[in-house]
Amino acid sequence: MPTYIYKALDKGCEYCKDGFEVKQTLADKPIEKCPKCGAAVRKVPTAFTFQMKP
Ligand SMILES: [Zn+2]
Repeated sequence: MPTYIYKALDKGCEYCKDGFEVKQTLADKPIEKCPKCGAAVRKVPTAFTFQMKP
C-alpha cells in the first residue's frame, strides 16, 4: 500500500507542519485537512512516487 505524505499548505500544527505520512490506496480520497488541527494540507511527492517516474 503506498504511503503518502501530506503537509500543511500554510500554518499547521506540530503534526502537519513538517508533513505526516498516511497509508492510502489509490481508491481513497485525498486528504484535504489535517486530522489534528484542520489546516489545509497538500500531498507531497514521496520517494515512492518518485520511483514511478521514468
Ligand atoms: Zn495540523
